[in-house]
Amino acid sequence: MTAIAERFSGCLLAGAIGDAMGAPVEFMSSVEIDSLTHGEGVNQFYQAYGKLGAITDDTQMTLFTCEALLQASSDGDCSSEQVISYFNQAYLHWLNTQQEASPLPLTYTSHLLNVPSLNARRAPGITCITALRNKPSLQALAENESKGCGGVMRAAPVGLFAVRKALSDEVTFRLGSLCAHVTHGHPTGYLSAGLFAVVIRCLIQGMTLRAAIDVGLRELQRHNGHEETLLSVQRALMLSATGLSHRQAIQMLGEGWVAEEALAIALYCVLVAKDFSQLINYSVSHGGDSDSTGSIAGNLWGAMHGLNGIPQPWLAQLEAHQCINQMALALHDCA
Ligand SMILES: [Mg+2]
Repeated sequence: MTAIAERFSGCLLAGAIGDAMGAPVEFMSSVEIDSLTHGEGVNQFYQAYGKLGAITDDTQMTLFTCEALLQASSDGDCSSEQVISYFNQAYLHWLNTQQEASPLPLTYTSHLLNVPSLNARRAPGITCITALRNKPSLQALAENESKGCGGVMRAAPVGLFAVRKALSDEVTFRLGSLCAHVTHGHPTGYLSAGLFAVVIRCLIQGMTLRAAIDVGLRELQRHNGHEETLLSVQRALMLSATGLSHRQAIQMLGEGWVAEEALAIALYCVLVAKDFSQLINYSVSHGGDSDSTGSIAGNLWGAMHGLNGIPQPWLAQLEAHQCINQMALALHDCA
């Protein structure tokens, strides 16, 4: 595998590990997590959804983002306006896996529908389900005011796609935003995803995290309604440079149920963690939306480090790891 291909795989696999590590504790308080982990925080898979290594909606939807981009690429429809309909279609296919019928006819067949672990409800976000259930057309962006983290958590593949297609900062940001905007109507809900996609692209290309964040913030500030996301990311940068414990710092960043907090917690964890195990431990062992913060943090880590430092047994135990790797490599190989 080339160094770049390994970063594509690392981005999606490490994200899925973060998701699966966070899944068992997503709805636990920090006191409950301490009691489960004897005060150590999460350092191993615990059972979720009846198994070890179970992925959740974060990884499921990330794979559907991949499929949207691959389909757009194979049809030669990669302009921002056209890609909206591919995002909508892909997430409507995902809606079908959640035992809900798509309100609109879909024009391509999703290969992901045959993957058993994707045909399972894993605490899907209400905003995603509701926005898709009421989708009026394949071109429609969300009309709601949601800034839940369900948009940003699935946007990493846009950064990978942007590497492959040599997209500019501006277009990468726009595609990332649109990927979230089809279900999340609040600027924070989608601008955070634009920023995340730009950071992922820059990391794959070898920038440092600080430099990648600077590029993302520059682009972010060109858009109306960016202030909340900007403040959260700046707070993460500031806290990463203090001597506060990770627990205190994460508490100051929020719980991660909303987009700007999930992104800020993930960025903070990648800025301060010394290795992948510590990254997982910090990013999921808090009383908030652990699987989403773990997933975003893992995406960032893998984009920087590839599969380096990810314990082999974790990869082996991860549900759907072959499918996740295949989707990463398919994006790497898309012309
Ligand atoms: Mg989840």
